[in-house]
Amino acid sequence: MHMQRFTDKTAMQNQINSWKADGLTTAIVPTMGNLHQGHLSLVRTAADHADKVIVSIYINPAQFAAHEDFDTYPRSHDADFSLLEKTGCCDGIYVPDTMYSDSHATMIMPEGAADGLEAEKRPHFFRGVATIVLKLFNHVPADIAIFGEKDFQQLLVIKQMVADLDVPINIIASPTIRDVDGLALSSRNGYLSAEQRAIAPTLYASLQQVRHGIISGTPIEQAIAAGKQQILDGGFDSLDYLGYCNRADLQPLSHYSEQSVLLVAARLGTTRLIDNLSL
Ligand code: AMP
Repeated sequence: MHMQRFTDKTAMQNQINSWKADGLTTAIVPTMGNLHQGHLSLVRTAADHADKVIVSIYINPAQFAAHEDFDTYPRSHDADFSLLEKTGCCDGIYVPDTMYSDSHATMIMPEGAADGLEAEKRPHFFRGVATIVLKLFNHVPADIAIFGEKDFQQLLVIKQMVADLDVPINIIASPTIRDVDGLALSSRNGYLSAEQRAIAPTLYASLQQVRHGIISGTPIEQAIAAGKQQILDGGFDSLDYLGYCNRADLQPLSHYSEQSVLLVAARLGTTRLIDNLSL
């Protein structure tokens, strides 16, 4: 399949609109590049739901704090391009040079699902994410957008924004893809040393343990405390949060619910890993 590369907003919009005129639907998969099998599974989900698939690659400065890894975030454009081509189901790649004009002065301010958890340590993160995603939806006026459950809070923030602002796009969630030892695939796993990489699967193992505890009747507070201890004992250097929340709005839960999710963020050296597990 011939995969087209777009860098210009108008050319991108024209392509989607011309597909639309031919009766073809489009799905967009927004990414920051350095693609792995997790991203490629989103591309396949996209192809299951739409006639045409566009993957965007843009490292969004507005979602990185000054001390975070914007400058060092892995950039691997050629490898990304050939991985996408090999899927056989990606019709185009959108790589805008920049998304912000010098006079840019408007940000989306999500609340609700955007409060707490990730926002505690990264207070500007979701306004950066929501703003860039809305801009991408305007550049790529697709019918469907695919987001990974790996970033569960982000998925809910986007769903909430689309509902609140009447954005004409359907958001579809795609499951987390893991390595054989359970570690969720992430572009940031490449930062880990061999020793840290060996510790990293503790995160998911601990979530499974907490899930098991809660389902078998351990009080929430006690199950969470044991999970935190297990993550630190496993070799993580620090824990940002381990929360048990309602799956629809991320409100904290103090009792077992079938519609619930465990969410975690922890650090190995300077690398911050996140994961989640639904009950
Ligand atoms: P990223 O470029 O890594 O920020 O993520 C782009 C999209 O890929 C987001 O919707 C993520 O949730 C999704 N994603 C990242 N890692 C995974 C994974 N291991 N499994 C499924 N989706 C993922």
